[in-house]
Amino acid sequence: MAWDVGIIGLGAMGSMAAWQLAQRGTSVIGFEQFGIGHDRSAVGGETRLFRTAYKEGAEYVPLLKESKHLWKQLEDQSGNKLLHLNGGLNIGPIEDEFMQNVLKSVKDFNLDHEILDYMDAKRRYPQHILGPDEIMVLDKDAGFLRPELAVVSAVKRAEQLGAEIRSHAKVESFEANDDGIVIKSDGHEYKVKQLLITAGPWIGEMLPQFKPVVNVKKIILSWFPAKNVEDYQPSRFPIFTRRSSGHRLFGAPTVEGSMVKVGVSTPGDVVEDVNYLNRTVELSEFKESMEVVSKFFNGLYTDPVRVNAYMDAYTDDGHSMIGRVPGYPNVVVMGGFSGHGFKMAPALGKIASDILIHDSTPFDLKSLSPDRFSPSLKTEF
Ligand SMILES: Cc1cc2nc3c(=O)[nH]c(=O)nc-3n(C[C@H](O)[C@H](O)[C@H](O)COP(=O)(O)OP(=O)(O)OC[C@H]3O[C@@H](n4cnc5c(N)ncnc54)[C@H](O)[C@@H]3O)c2cc1C
Repeated sequence: MAWDVGIIGLGAMGSMAAWQLAQRGTSVIGFEQFGIGHDRSAVGGETRLFRTAYKEGAEYVPLLKESKHLWKQLEDQSGNKLLHLNGGLNIGPIEDEFMQNVLKSVKDFNLDHEILDYMDAKRRYPQHILGPDEIMVLDKDAGFLRPELAVVSAVKRAEQLGAEIRSHAKVESFEANDDGIVIKSDGHEYKVKQLLITAGPWIGEMLPQFKPVVNVKKIILSWFPAKNVEDYQPSRFPIFTRRSSGHRLFGAPTVEGSMVKVGVSTPGDVVEDVNYLNRTVELSEFKESMEVVSKFFNGLYTDPVRVNAYMDAYTDDGHSMIGRVPGYPNVVVMGGFSGHGFKMAPALGKIASDILIHDSTPFDLKSLSPDRFSPSLKTEF
């Protein structure tokens, strides 16, 4: 048996798992069908939001705290700046469920935050046009990540620690038998004791039984030029998420010095064939982003200068699946991150390595078990 663990897919989750496994002395081989840090799946687009006041569910807060610590560790080990904690604004009418969840999260977990009423918010962050019933909650432990550099940093660090990495190497199939698992890629066979599948949108290709519980969706990001770019520098413009007048929007400051990313959270069409994501973006796909820019911002031009298409795997309840694959005791899967997995990728990489090495994890992940979707997907920790 040549390796303890094989990893299929070195995007957000696979790269972090490779780093965590190699750091614990496990022998690892990782396969990535494209280049490391590529933009053809769920990782491209310069920034990913990092938030700890988590409207998606308070159960994620311990994972986010652990991730913050691990992002710093990866920065120290790689020498690359990955997490920029310039703060995060949650914006909306105070009585809305969204703002109530944010307030609950900061209170329950004692998160460092500030509540800005309409007048304070308007004065401090004049880039945002607010309605009179809207407030801001500033999450001080929020900011943005550099996703491509993060993936590259984790994979390079894993390599330094002894992991073998195969880029531009698509895994065609794997076979599990009593002796272990044989991975087939590029006409070669690789024998491993255990397998981690972190294939993102390709999860259904590697594990067809997961196809019915995952939809791959196209996600559009748009960048708008700033009239005065100083107003949109990270020091003056925190990342934000906002629910206003039926729109769900998010964005990040300028990182390259001229344009500002603003997107809407509703994912686009289902991608029928993940090998052929249509990367051409029609006006109808980014019209709402243009509308929110003209409605909610001072100082941005309303025609985007860059519009790109990516994709992520969505489950019906918007939460991911982590655990051993039924019928394959030596195979662990992590997938279905539903548009919000990047920020917690290092903690999830560590959890995958916990499961692979110790068959348990200190985090309570029952709510993320794949068997919540179907008895045929029963899994154990
Ligand atoms: C546009 C966009 C914006 C987002 N914004 C945020 C955000 O602000 N904050 C946040 O936390 N999250 C965000 N997310 C979500 C986050 O980026 C994803 O949830 C996360 O990247 C999913 O990680 P993954 O490892 O499952 O998939 P991926 O990162 O897509 O990785 C899967 C990898 O597997 C490889 N692969 C697949 N099949 C094979 C095979 N057979 N052989 C070899 N390699 C294979 C793929 O090429 C790919 O590299 C966003 C997602 C998108 C698309």
